[in-house]
This record gives sequence, structure tokens and C-alpha cells, in this order.
Amino acid sequence: TVPLDRLVSWLGGYRDAVIEQRAYLTELDSAIGDADHGANMARGMTAVMDKLGAGVPATADELFKSVGMTLVTSVGGASGPLYGTFFLRMGMSAGAIAEFDGAALAAALRAGLDGIVARGKAEAGDKTMFDALAPGLGAFDAALAEGASPAEAAAAAATAAEAGRDATKPWVARKGRASYLGERSAGHLDPGAASSALLLRCLADALG
Ligand code: ADP
Ligand code: MG
Ligand code: MG
Repeated sequence: TVPLDRLVSWLGGYRDAVIEQRAYLTELDSAIGDADHGANMARGMTAVMDKLGAGVPATADELFKSVGMTLVTSVGGASGPLYGTFFLRMGMSAGAIAEFDGAALAAALRAGLDGIVARGKAEAGDKTMFDALAPGLGAFDAALAEGASPAEAAAAAATAAEAGRDATKPWVARKGRASYLGERSAGHLDPGAASSALLLRCLADALG
């Protein structure tokens, strides 16, 4: 099982990773967006960890509600509400538990992705964070079904999400700011797919 403090380590690791990759995420967003994705994610995750620094909730529902609300309020644009919804839905799915088994973690992540879709209406191939998260969570589920541990499933998820991120490069964006560019959005990785692949890589690192 995965105790809540492992997931707090995940969030802390993700904060460190988006700060480290801030310039890279912004460079991706400068090609097909408004050059703020690195700043958005760094600001949001810094606010998340600052809030948790004042006290970590004892149950998953309260933990992820805090994370989601902080992202919604501290990050504007598209990614704040979308990542915020992801974590809010994770918490609602998990309920008042203090540790996850693999199935509960898979269900929470899936609920998070469903929330992103409910909010942003992304479909496969639209060139968004969905295109990293969906194959990532598919690989998570497939690994669990084969008897993998949560750590092993997270590693499979990260690898699949990175492949999903890379696949976005030649595509024309159909959602978000990048879609305004039409054909000119082709030839660049989607910034949100990059930050989402990183989210699952950090989960694998925290559980591994
Ligand atoms: P903004 O575009 O408002 O500046 P960010 O730059 O922080 O916000 O985030 C952009 C990312 O948000 C995109 O790269 C894409 O992955 C994601 N995104 C945008 N619109 C949607 C949507 N409708 N559904 C899913 N993801 C989306
Ligand atoms: Mg942007
Ligand atoms: Mg913006």
C-alpha cells in the first residue's frame, strides 16, 4: 500500500521538478502558446507545498482538496483549473482514507483524468495533457491487472505518458491556446503533455 506521506513526497518532488524544468516548459509554451506554462506550474506547485507546510491533512480527500483548490486559485489560464480539477476529483474518489492500495490509486487517478475531460472536453489527439495522461493511466491499469505493485505500475505509467507526450509533436492542436495557431501548432511538443508526463514520472520516483 501507499501511505499518504508518499503522495506528499510525490507532490514535493513535482514542485521541485517543475521549478527545475520551468524554462523548458515555458520554451514549449512560447512555441505554441503564451510562454507561461513553466511559471504557472512553478507558482502553483510552490503554493501547494507552502500550504501543506502549514499542516498536512490526515486523509486523502482533505489532502487533494487542498492541492486542487490551491492550484485553481493560484494558477490562472487553462492549466490551473484543469490540474486543480484533477486533484479535486482524486480526493473525491479516494475519500477519507490514509493509505491507498493499487486499485484505489488507479481509481483516483482515473477520476482525476475524467475531471479534466469533463472540464476541458479534450479527446485523444487534440494535443493536450490528455494525450500524456490517458496512455499513462491505461498503462497503470494494465500493469496492475498483471499483478504489478503500485510502484511498478507508476513506472509503466510514466514511460507510457512520456511516449504520449512525444507523440503530440507533429499534431495540430485542437484545444486550448495552441489551437488558435492551426497548422502552425504542428512540430512542437504540447507543454501540458510535458508537465503531465512529468507528474507521472514524479509519482514513479516517489513510489519507487
Ligand atoms: P494557458 O494556455 O492558459 O496559458 P498553460 O500554458 O498553463 O495555460 O497550459 C497550457 C496547456 O493546457 C496546454 O499545453 C494543454 O496541454 C492544456 N490544455 C489547454 N486546453 C485544454 C483542454 N481543453 N483540455 C485539456 N488540456 C488543455
Ligand atoms: Mg500558456
Ligand atoms: Mg496563459
